[in-house]
Amino acid sequence: MSARTVRFSSDTANVFFHILTQCNLRCRHCYINPREHGTQRLSLETMTDWLTTMARRAPGANLVFLGGEPTLHPDLAAAVHAAAKLAYGSITIDTNGYLFHDILDHITPEQVNFISFSLDGAGPETNDPIRGQGCFAACTAGIRQAKAKGFRTSLIFTVSQMNLDDLKRMPPLLDELGIDRFFIQVIGLRGQSAAGPEDNAHHLQVSRAQWLEKVIPVAHRVARDSGIVVSYPKVFLEPDAPFECAGRVADNYFIFPNGRVYRCPLCEDYPLHSLQWVGDRLEATSPINEADLFSLDIAEGCVMNKLIQPHNLAYTPEGKPAYQIACCLLKATLGEEG
Ligand code: SF4
Ligand code: SF4
Repeated sequence: MSARTVRFSSDTANVFFHILTQCNLRCRHCYINPREHGTQRLSLETMTDWLTTMARRAPGANLVFLGGEPTLHPDLAAAVHAAAKLAYGSITIDTNGYLFHDILDHITPEQVNFISFSLDGAGPETNDPIRGQGCFAACTAGIRQAKAKGFRTSLIFTVSQMNLDDLKRMPPLLDELGIDRFFIQVIGLRGQSAAGPEDNAHHLQVSRAQWLEKVIPVAHRVARDSGIVVSYPKVFLEPDAPFECAGRVADNYFIFPNGRVYRCPLCEDYPLHSLQWVGDRLEATSPINEADLFSLDIAEGCVMNKLIQPHNLAYTPEGKPAYQIACCLLKATLGEEG
């Protein structure tokens, strides 16, 4: 099965709306950074104002509610109801599976396209050391509840050295849980991954050889044998393959509760946001910000990758990059959906 790379498109927008940063878990690779993203919990009024502004700015956008853990927010259901009346193309809730405030009793599958669960292992022995004791049981119970209530579910698996060898154990679990879409992510040096002790730093990242030998084949197996739509980041590009920076050619918004709005997730650990909420208006920030980086062309591909995680680069004896690092937002998709 050939992988279809979703081309960036300025007429497809994605709004990643972090409505709070609090969470009941302390995952080892959590990218949330309260110093840069704030500790506020947005009021329903502010959420509604910002949702309204974004729906006008990017009609048809795919909206994702995130945190922290978004179901800890007592007004999540009300925010979903507000969003469902606006011009969004799809609505997803990303959750760690604990489903606080009985969220599934207060929203419907007609309002929400996907409930997306994060799980980093095929069993508790792999998942729980990464995400927390009891988390595997809680998350799989949450998935079963969501399925029983008729919600479509997706599962996000973040690959690192901690669970690389567990990925091949995922296909039967995906089948058993009835997952509709499988997202494979790659660990990045952000938040806890960047701030932790030595064994939590770049040692957790996977090499190009591991990615090609252990990750891509599982993605194909799941799509082929289970008929599940699978997405994974391209990560490594051939030296002469076309490279695009989503910051230049796509329309993505990563909104945080302190009012910062980024266009690039790799910039989120720094005060480099190019947009900022002022009341219910979205205003451009002054230079220097992430947009100044997007315009730089380098042989290694992604500029931010070279700045913050150069360990994943390699060079030929002549000093040329052996490959490029793709934009972290560039995904390949296997299966029917795009
Ligand atoms: S990765 Fe998600 S579930 Fe884990 S601590 Fe961070 S916000 Fe919470
Ligand atoms: S990850 Fe790299 S290529 Fe993608 S938007 Fe950010 S700077 Fe651009």
